[in-house]
Amino acid sequence: MRKYLIAGNWKMNSAPGGAFDPGSPYQAHADIDVVVFPTYLDLERCIKAKIISGPQFGHIEEHGAHTGDISLKMCKDLGSIYCLCGHSDRRGEHSETSEEVAAQVTAALEYGLHPIVCIGETLEQKQAGKTEEVLKEMMAPLPLESDITIAYEPVWAISRGDPDTPAATPDDAQNMHALIRSLLPKDRRSVTRILYGGSMKPDNAEALLSQPDIDGGLVGGASLKPEAFQEIVDAASKLTK
Ligand code: PEP
Repeated sequence: MRKYLIAGNWKMNSAPGGAFDPGSPYQAHADIDVVVFPTYLDLERCIKAKIISGPQFGHIEEHGAHTGDISLKMCKDLGSIYCLCGHSDRRGEHSETSEEVAAQVTAALEYGLHPIVCIGETLEQKQAGKTEEVLKEMMAPLPLESDITIAYEPVWAISRGDPDTPAATPDDAQNMHALIRSLLPKDRRSVTRILYGGSMKPDNAEALLSQPDIDGGLVGGASLKPEAFQEIVDAASKLTK
């Protein structure tokens, strides 16, 4: 019932070679939703190449005195469909609070963008047994009754360039996704998509995606390698059949 969504987060990297070619793995797919979050510099090119895409962050105001920022509205006007909100890089490096992330989600909805909002605990929080508390704190200000997508990204599983970073096990990820789903309003539980993010790769994608509460992936490092991204898209596509 919930269509798989595979999203590539290119972070602060140029578009992979061949990304804009017809038939690239980043193009819209018949069976599943495929989305890319490039840097602002590649956003227009993605849109022109008919890649479903959006910004990794956008300012909530339409325009104004915000040097260095680009607004969600500008990204929408350019042709973005989605936007990423509250990635752990933004929460960490730019001190975005859960309330600020929620304001981005609300603004995105107002402008007609579909927000994918990232939540997840750090290693320290996990080791202190605070995972549930952290997820509840991050979810509390979100407009959970709206049509949004959540990405559960345990920060300790995000590769940040280290290919040996372990992903969450499929069982552990499933347990966390089930918990997150239980925190959604009752009438959204069967429809809201919850993606897993954190070292998803070709060799673990099928096991993660086959869990009942995992509705797709937010893929960082592997999304920069077209062949690896294609394999993850193929794994999701195969599971829909
Ligand atoms: C991310 O940064 O959103 C991410 C999931 O990265 P990776 O897949 O490289 O762990």
